[in-house]
This record gives sequence, structure tokens and C-alpha cells, in this order.
Amino acid sequence: MRLAPSPTGTLHIGTARTAVFNWLFARRQGGQFLLRIEDTDKERSKPEYTANILEGLQWLGINWDEEPVVQSERIAEHRAAIQQLLDSGRAYRCYATEAELTEMRERQAAENRAPRYDNRHRNLTPEQEQAFIAEGREATIRFRIDDDAVITWTDLVRGEMRWAGADLGGDMVIARRAPADQIGDPLYNLVVVVDDAAMAITHVIRGEDHIANTAKQLLLYEALGAPVPVFAHTPLILNKEGKKLSKRDGVTSVNDFRAQGYTAEALANYMTLLGWSPPEGMGERFSLAEAAAVFDFERVNKAGARFDWDKLNWLNSQVLHERSPEQLLAELEPLWSAQGWPTTTADATWLQELCALLGPSLVTLQDGIEQARPFFERPELNEAAQKQLATEGARPALAALLERLPEGPLSPEAAQALLGEAVAAAGVKKGVLMKTLRAALLGSLQGPDLLTTWLLLQPSGEARSRIERSL
Ligand code: GLU
Repeated sequence: MRLAPSPTGTLHIGTARTAVFNWLFARRQGGQFLLRIEDTDKERSKPEYTANILEGLQWLGINWDEEPVVQSERIAEHRAAIQQLLDSGRAYRCYATEAELTEMRERQAAENRAPRYDNRHRNLTPEQEQAFIAEGREATIRFRIDDDAVITWTDLVRGEMRWAGADLGGDMVIARRAPADQIGDPLYNLVVVVDDAAMAITHVIRGEDHIANTAKQLLLYEALGAPVPVFAHTPLILNKEGKKLSKRDGVTSVNDFRAQGYTAEALANYMTLLGWSPPEGMGERFSLAEAAAVFDFERVNKAGARFDWDKLNWLNSQVLHERSPEQLLAELEPLWSAQGWPTTTADATWLQELCALLGPSLVTLQDGIEQARPFFERPELNEAAQKQLATEGARPALAALLERLPEGPLSPEAAQALLGEAVAAAGVKKGVLMKTLRAALLGSLQGPDLLTTWLLLQPSGEARSRIERSL
């Protein structure tokens, strides 16, 4: 198994999902999962994208078994394979100029025909070739695709597949234009086959947008005499409208999900569900290792997988609810300190208690910023809070509590006892004091558990200050 990302952008969710399926299948089969960086597009490939892809996979919990293969270091092998195809007559030089090819395509378009190369230079005589060379023409190298070829394979997801050679667009370019005594830059379909064969890849698992490439690649395997791997084409990831998820959908790179506060576990879990149905009884929340124990392609759907934010959010909240306060703190601390909150000077136990309080209501880690804000910054009183303070008995009850409020930390039992004394003294219902205390402490009638909130704001004197302010 292998993942062959092109480092022309950050790790895309589609590539990450392909990685997940490859990894799960490799682990299930006891096989190897390898990486190959397809960096032959020199203009668009960047080392920082390679770094981002590797780092993103690691973050997701996907490990690989050997040093990644770097495609650009293998050009000599690619050229040798092209030479082999030239020598065996399966490939030839095509001297058609860009202008001639454009003219050909325009004519096809005008006649409502699908664009295809008309194989015009397939059988040039040596004299014709010499004449083109004498004109100063350069040549691409094309691989012969017979119109009557029938290409079949058994796809692990899609079953029996069949392509007609005539539907592959004519003889395919395998090396870019170059002087006729040279071999130009080798192109995608050729290099993938040469590399997959060299890496002894037994299973090629990739998105269904590669199906036509697979048909072409099968012809190349045959022409090069290389063993043919098994193919599995996974369904595309679709947006809400049922169209292929694209940059226009906003969040598409693993970085984006991470920045929005999604955890690696939830994202990996969710990507596994994008196209794969777990066996009965397994539920939808599982780790990659748990999925690897049962993963197979029989349970991968052919139909495109619609991206379901509700499910991702649900999984992420499950993951966050399972976190220990220590783990949650490790993830929230950087977000909090980015807000300028003094996390380094704050007491570690206090920070963990805050995490334990907020954890159960988080959907994303980002939620942990807004929900923690009133513990680091004194909030304004919103309208509902002001109204509450104005209700009958509210201020007297709060004043009764303030009178009895000690300095320094409080135990939950002592706090409960204080509440009891204050309502008795003020002659109000306990509910009135609770609601008013919440308004005073959080500036709002909504928020996490009141007693814990109070106990967290108590040691610093902040509880007292906020009650005084409200009075
Ligand atoms: N570099 C190709 C891509 O990123 C690899 C496709 C393949 O898996 O063969 O689409």
C-alpha cells in the first residue's frame, strides 16, 4: 500500500482520507504502508508542503513503514522505462507542434467530437522524422493505445471494470516535448507505474477520480512487463450539495480542521466513516486501531460520501468528553495563552479544574476559548443578568452572601452552607440566590455548573469583586 501525495498544497482532506484507507488496509493485512512524494512538478512543488503533509499524517496518527520515496530522485529510472518502451516499439516520438494540436482540438470541438489525439505520428518513416528534425521540431514521446484494446480489472470497491482503448484519448504523452535525441520530462501515468512497480506495491488505493488513469496505467504495466497491483477506487468526498468537495467549500485542508478545534482522533474517525460502514455493533466512535482490526473493502460504498458536519461535531465532542483534564489542558493551554491569558502563572490544579468544568460542553477546542473567557476576563453584565439583579430579593440575597463570604478558597460543602445561611437571612428562595449569583459571576444566566464556577473564582478574590460590582 502507498500514498503518493503531490506536494503542491497542504494536506487535503481527500488525500488524508486516502491515507486512512491505505493505512487501515495495510494494518489489517499485515502489509506495509509506504509514502512517495510526487514532486516532479518543479514549479508547484514546495518543501514546506511536503513537511505539512508528513506532519499532518503524523498528527492524524498515521505512521509509515519506510523513508518516503522522493519521485524526483528517480528520473533516471523513469527515463530508462521510456527508453524500453521506445525500443520495444510501444512508444514513439510525436513531432506535432502545439499549434497543430490546438488546431486539431478546435476542429474536433467544432464537429462536436470528444478531444483526442489522432495518432498522426504513430507510423512516421525515418525520412519523415528526419524532415521534422531538420525543421527544428522537438518531440513528445507517446505510448500507443490501440483503439480496440479492452482493459479490465477487478476493483476492490467497484467490482468488474472495463474500459475501451478508444475512450482513452488516443496515444498518450509519457514524456514532455524535448529535442528529438533526448527524453523530456516523464509524465504522471508513466512515473506512477514505474515507481509503484519498483516499490513492489501490491494494492493501489486512491480516489475514483483516478479510474481513467488506472486504465492507462494497466496498459503500461503490461508493456513494461511489470506485475499488476490490485486497485481500489474510493468514493469522492462530496459537499452538502452533492458536488465534489473543493477549495470553494472553505475548510478542505487538515490544517483548517485543526485550526477550527477538531481533534486528530475525531477527524481520523470521521474520515474512516466517509465511505466505509463499520460492521454491526461497532458503533461510529472508534480509534484507527479499532477500525484497522476489521477494515475491508466490502464495506466501502461506491457512491460518493457526503460531508456531514453534524457527525464530525458529534465525534469531536465525544473525543473531548473522553479527555482527562490534563489532556484537555495540554490542548487548550496554547489557545488560552494566545488570548493573552496568564496560563503560565496560573495554578496548574486550578487550570485542570477549569478544564474538567468546561470539557463536557465542548464541541470543538475553539469553544474552549469563549467558554473559558469569563474565568480570565471579567465579563460585562448582559441584559438578562441585569434584569435578574433587579428582581425582588435578588440584591438582598447577594448582599447576605457577601457579608458571609470569607477570603481564600472554599470547599463545596462550605459554599453550600453559605448559600443556605444567606437565603435564610434574606428570606428568599434558594433559586433566586443561585440565579443572581450566576448573573453576578458570569454576567449571564447561562454557563457551566454554578458551584464549581464560584469555587474557581473564589481563591483570587474575583468572586468577591464581581459580587461587589453587581451590588
Ligand atoms: N500524485 C497523485 C495525486 O496526488 C497520486 C495519485 C496516485 O495515487 O496514483 O493525485
